[in-house]
Amino acid sequence: MKETVNRRIKGEPLQYLLGEWEFYGYPFKVGKGVLIPRPETELLVDLVKEYCIRAKQEISPKDGLCSSEGATVLDLCAGTGCVGISLVKEIGCNVIAVEKYKEAAEYLKSNIKLNNVENNVTIIEDDVLSLKQLLFITEQLSIVVINPPYLSGCEMQSLQAEVRHEPQTALYGGNDGLDFYRAFFNVWGERLQKARLFACEVGDGQAGAVGQLMENVGLRVEKRKDFNGIERVLFSPGAL
Ligand code: GLN
Repeated sequence: MKETVNRRIKGEPLQYLLGEWEFYGYPFKVGKGVLIPRPETELLVDLVKEYCIRAKQEISPKDGLCSSEGATVLDLCAGTGCVGISLVKEIGCNVIAVEKYKEAAEYLKSNIKLNNVENNVTIIEDDVLSLKQLLFITEQLSIVVINPPYLSGCEMQSLQAEVRHEPQTALYGGNDGLDFYRAFFNVWGERLQKARLFACEVGDGQAGAVGQLMENVGLRVEKRKDFNGIERVLFSPGAL
Protein backbone atom coordinates (compact mmCIF):
# COMPACT_ATOMS: atom_id res chain seq x y z
CA MET A 1 0.00 0.00 0.00
CA LYS A 2 2.73 2.44 1.00
CA GLU A 3 4.58 1.60 -2.16
CA THR A 4 1.47 2.25 -4.23
CA VAL A 5 0.94 5.61 -2.56
CA ASN A 6 4.54 6.54 -3.24
CA ARG A 7 4.18 5.63 -6.89
CA ARG A 8 1.07 7.80 -7.10
CA ILE A 9 2.89 10.69 -5.39
CA LYS A 10 5.58 10.41 -8.04
CA GLY A 11 2.90 11.00 -10.65
CA GLU A 12 2.42 7.47 -11.90
CA PRO A 13 -1.05 7.26 -13.48
CA LEU A 14 -3.82 5.72 -11.41
CA GLN A 15 -4.55 3.38 -14.33
CA TYR A 16 -1.03 1.90 -14.12
CA LEU A 17 -1.40 1.38 -10.38
CA LEU A 18 -4.72 -0.37 -10.85
CA GLY A 19 -3.26 -2.39 -13.72
CA GLU A 20 -6.52 -2.41 -15.60
CA TRP A 21 -8.74 0.21 -17.20
CA GLU A 22 -12.04 0.24 -19.04
CA PHE A 23 -12.61 1.15 -22.65
CA TYR A 24 -15.93 0.82 -24.41
CA GLY A 25 -17.15 -1.15 -21.39
CA TYR A 26 -14.40 -3.80 -21.70
CA PRO A 27 -11.42 -4.36 -19.40
CA PHE A 28 -7.86 -3.73 -20.61
CA LYS A 29 -4.60 -4.48 -18.85
CA VAL A 30 -2.39 -1.40 -18.72
CA GLY A 31 0.99 -0.56 -17.25
CA LYS A 32 4.40 0.87 -18.02
CA GLY A 33 5.13 0.65 -21.73
CA VAL A 34 1.63 1.00 -23.13
CA LEU A 35 -0.66 3.96 -23.79
CA ILE A 36 -3.71 4.12 -21.52
CA PRO A 37 -6.93 3.96 -23.58
CA ARG A 38 -8.55 7.40 -23.80
CA PRO A 39 -12.30 7.98 -23.75
CA GLU A 40 -12.20 10.05 -26.96
CA THR A 41 -10.76 7.05 -28.82
CA GLU A 42 -14.12 5.32 -28.34
CA LEU A 43 -15.22 7.53 -31.23
CA LEU A 44 -13.13 5.37 -33.58
CA VAL A 45 -15.08 2.31 -32.45
CA ASP A 46 -18.42 4.12 -32.80
CA LEU A 47 -17.56 5.14 -36.31
CA VAL A 48 -16.62 1.67 -37.53
CA LYS A 49 -19.73 0.24 -35.90
CA GLU A 50 -21.96 2.79 -37.57
CA TYR A 51 -20.34 2.15 -40.90
CA CYS A 52 -20.87 -1.61 -40.62
CA ILE A 53 -24.50 -1.22 -39.60
CA ARG A 54 -25.13 1.12 -42.53
CA ALA A 55 -23.31 -1.20 -44.90
CA LYS A 56 -25.47 -4.10 -43.74
CA GLN A 57 -28.65 -2.16 -44.35
CA GLU A 58 -27.65 -0.89 -47.75
CA ILE A 59 -26.30 -4.11 -49.20
CA SER A 60 -28.34 -7.24 -49.35
CA PRO A 61 -27.12 -9.62 -46.64
CA LYS A 62 -26.87 -12.50 -49.09
CA ASP A 63 -24.11 -10.57 -50.80
CA GLY A 64 -22.01 -11.39 -47.76
CA LEU A 65 -19.43 -8.82 -48.67
CA CYS A 66 -20.45 -6.27 -46.12
CA SER A 67 -21.54 -8.35 -43.20
CA SER A 68 -19.35 -7.21 -40.32
CA GLU A 69 -18.83 -10.84 -39.30
CA GLY A 70 -16.77 -11.26 -42.44
CA ALA A 71 -14.96 -7.94 -42.19
CA THR A 72 -11.30 -7.76 -41.40
CA VAL A 73 -10.29 -4.72 -39.41
CA LEU A 74 -6.68 -3.72 -39.53
CA ASP A 75 -5.85 -2.04 -36.20
CA LEU A 76 -2.57 -0.18 -36.69
CA CYS A 77 -0.44 1.05 -33.75
CA ALA A 78 -2.70 -1.19 -31.69
CA GLY A 79 -1.15 -0.65 -28.22
CA THR A 80 -3.45 -2.28 -25.65
CA GLY A 81 -5.65 -3.43 -28.53
CA CYS A 82 -8.56 -1.42 -27.16
CA VAL A 83 -9.92 -0.38 -30.56
CA GLY A 84 -9.65 -3.73 -32.32
CA ILE A 85 -10.74 -5.87 -29.38
CA SER A 86 -13.79 -3.67 -28.71
CA LEU A 87 -14.73 -4.03 -32.37
CA VAL A 88 -14.55 -7.81 -32.18
CA LYS A 89 -16.86 -7.65 -29.18
CA GLU A 90 -19.24 -5.19 -30.79
CA ILE A 91 -19.48 -6.36 -34.38
CA GLY A 92 -17.95 -9.81 -34.47
CA CYS A 93 -15.27 -8.90 -37.02
CA ASN A 94 -11.77 -10.31 -37.36
CA VAL A 95 -8.85 -8.08 -36.47
CA ILE A 96 -5.22 -7.91 -37.48
CA ALA A 97 -3.49 -5.87 -34.79
CA VAL A 98 -0.11 -4.37 -35.66
CA GLU A 99 2.14 -3.23 -32.82
CA LYS A 100 5.81 -2.42 -33.11
CA TYR A 101 6.90 -2.27 -29.46
CA LYS A 102 7.44 -5.46 -27.52
CA GLU A 103 6.28 -4.11 -24.17
CA ALA A 104 3.01 -2.88 -25.66
CA ALA A 105 2.55 -6.13 -27.60
CA GLU A 106 2.67 -8.06 -24.31
CA TYR A 107 -0.32 -6.06 -23.05
CA LEU A 108 -2.05 -6.64 -26.36
CA LYS A 109 -1.63 -10.41 -25.91
CA SER A 110 -2.97 -10.28 -22.34
CA ASN A 111 -5.94 -8.24 -23.44
CA ILE A 112 -6.83 -10.65 -26.20
CA LYS A 113 -6.94 -13.43 -23.58
CA LEU A 114 -8.73 -11.29 -21.00
CA ASN A 115 -11.51 -10.54 -23.48
CA ASN A 116 -11.65 -14.07 -24.93
CA VAL A 117 -11.07 -13.01 -28.50
CA GLU A 118 -8.19 -15.35 -29.34
CA ASN A 119 -10.03 -16.69 -32.35
CA ASN A 120 -10.65 -13.29 -33.87
CA VAL A 121 -7.41 -11.37 -33.39
CA THR A 122 -4.08 -11.93 -35.10
CA ILE A 123 -1.07 -9.98 -33.88
CA ILE A 124 1.69 -8.73 -36.13
CA GLU A 125 4.63 -7.38 -34.15
CA ASP A 126 5.97 -5.04 -36.73
CA ASP A 127 6.43 -1.47 -37.87
CA VAL A 128 3.40 0.01 -39.61
CA LEU A 129 5.76 2.11 -41.71
CA SER A 130 7.84 -0.73 -43.17
CA LEU A 131 5.81 -1.81 -46.08
CA LYS A 132 7.66 -5.03 -46.86
CA GLN A 133 6.46 -6.98 -43.88
CA LEU A 134 2.89 -5.88 -44.39
CA LEU A 135 2.56 -6.47 -48.11
CA PHE A 136 0.83 -9.79 -47.70
CA ILE A 137 -2.15 -8.34 -45.92
CA THR A 138 -3.02 -5.91 -48.72
CA GLU A 139 -5.48 -8.34 -50.19
CA GLN A 140 -7.40 -8.60 -46.95
CA LEU A 141 -7.67 -4.87 -46.53
CA SER A 142 -11.20 -3.94 -45.64
CA ILE A 143 -11.40 -1.56 -42.69
CA VAL A 144 -8.31 0.26 -41.46
CA VAL A 145 -8.12 2.13 -38.15
CA ILE A 146 -5.19 3.92 -36.59
CA ASN A 147 -4.47 6.00 -33.51
CA PRO A 148 -0.83 6.92 -34.05
CA PRO A 149 1.49 9.19 -32.06
CA TYR A 150 0.55 12.76 -32.89
CA LEU A 151 1.57 15.10 -30.07
CA SER A 152 3.83 18.01 -31.07
CA GLY A 153 7.14 18.99 -29.46
CA CYS A 154 5.35 21.83 -27.72
CA GLU A 155 2.64 19.57 -26.32
CA MET A 156 5.30 17.10 -25.12
CA GLN A 157 6.89 19.94 -23.12
CA SER A 158 3.68 20.65 -21.24
CA LEU A 159 2.47 17.12 -20.57
CA GLN A 160 0.70 16.33 -17.32
CA ALA A 161 2.93 14.48 -14.86
CA GLU A 162 0.89 11.30 -15.38
CA VAL A 163 1.24 11.31 -19.16
CA ARG A 164 5.03 11.58 -18.81
CA HIS A 165 4.95 8.02 -17.47
CA GLU A 166 3.41 6.76 -20.71
CA PRO A 167 5.61 5.68 -23.63
CA GLN A 168 6.87 8.62 -25.62
CA THR A 169 6.78 6.40 -28.72
CA ALA A 170 2.99 6.26 -28.45
CA LEU A 171 2.64 10.01 -28.01
CA TYR A 172 5.26 12.00 -29.90
CA GLY A 173 4.62 12.74 -33.55
CA GLY A 174 7.66 14.95 -34.20
CA ASN A 175 8.04 18.69 -33.97
CA ASP A 176 4.64 19.63 -35.40
CA GLY A 177 3.08 16.29 -34.41
CA LEU A 178 2.52 15.24 -38.01
CA ASP A 179 5.69 13.24 -38.79
CA PHE A 180 4.03 9.88 -38.35
CA TYR A 181 1.07 10.91 -40.46
CA ARG A 182 3.28 12.18 -43.29
CA ALA A 183 5.28 8.96 -43.34
CA PHE A 184 2.13 6.85 -42.99
CA PHE A 185 0.30 8.35 -45.97
CA ASN A 186 3.47 8.14 -48.05
CA VAL A 187 3.67 4.42 -47.44
CA TRP A 188 -0.02 3.53 -47.19
CA GLY A 189 -1.74 6.17 -49.33
CA GLU A 190 -2.61 4.13 -52.37
CA ARG A 191 -3.62 1.00 -50.56
CA LEU A 192 -5.96 3.00 -48.34
CA GLN A 193 -7.94 3.91 -51.45
CA LYS A 194 -8.88 0.26 -51.70
CA ALA A 195 -10.15 0.06 -48.14
CA ARG A 196 -13.87 0.05 -47.47
CA LEU A 197 -13.25 2.40 -44.60
CA PHE A 198 -10.22 4.20 -43.28
CA ALA A 199 -10.48 6.02 -39.94
CA CYS A 200 -7.83 7.75 -37.84
CA GLU A 201 -7.59 9.74 -34.64
CA VAL A 202 -5.93 13.16 -34.75
CA GLY A 203 -4.77 15.71 -32.19
CA ASP A 204 -6.40 18.97 -31.25
CA GLY A 205 -6.11 21.35 -34.22
CA GLN A 206 -4.68 18.75 -36.64
CA ALA A 207 -7.84 17.89 -38.57
CA GLY A 208 -7.12 20.41 -41.36
CA ALA A 209 -3.51 19.31 -41.91
CA VAL A 210 -4.16 15.57 -41.68
CA GLY A 211 -7.24 15.98 -43.89
CA GLN A 212 -4.99 17.63 -46.48
CA LEU A 213 -2.53 14.72 -46.31
CA MET A 214 -5.43 12.35 -46.90
CA GLU A 215 -6.70 14.35 -49.86
CA ASN A 216 -3.19 14.39 -51.31
CA VAL A 217 -3.33 10.60 -51.61
CA GLY A 218 -6.81 10.66 -53.11
CA LEU A 219 -8.88 9.96 -50.01
CA ARG A 220 -12.21 11.60 -49.36
CA VAL A 221 -12.27 13.23 -45.92
CA GLU A 222 -15.05 13.34 -43.37
CA LYS A 223 -14.63 14.58 -39.82
CA ARG A 224 -16.19 13.77 -36.49
CA LYS A 225 -15.98 15.83 -33.28
CA ASP A 226 -15.38 14.35 -29.85
CA PHE A 227 -17.35 15.21 -26.71
CA ASN A 228 -15.18 18.30 -26.21
CA GLY A 229 -16.07 19.63 -29.65
CA ILE A 230 -12.57 18.83 -31.01
CA GLU A 231 -12.35 17.34 -34.51
CA ARG A 232 -10.92 14.03 -33.37
CA VAL A 233 -11.58 11.40 -35.99
CA LEU A 234 -11.09 11.69 -39.72
CA PHE A 235 -12.44 9.03 -41.99
CA SER A 236 -12.74 8.09 -45.56
CA PRO A 237 -15.58 5.76 -46.43
CA GLY A 238 -14.94 3.86 -49.62
CA ALA A 239 -17.63 2.10 -51.61
CA LEU A 240 -20.10 0.32 -49.35
N1 GLN B 1 -4.65 11.47 -27.01
C1 GLN B 1 -3.39 11.24 -26.38
C2 GLN B 1 -3.07 12.36 -25.41
O1 GLN B 1 -3.67 13.39 -25.47
C3 GLN B 1 -2.31 11.13 -27.42
C4 GLN B 1 -2.38 9.80 -28.03
C5 GLN B 1 -1.79 9.79 -29.36
O2 GLN B 1 -0.82 10.48 -29.65
N2 GLN B 1 -2.38 9.01 -30.19
O3 GLN B 1 -2.24 12.21 -24.55
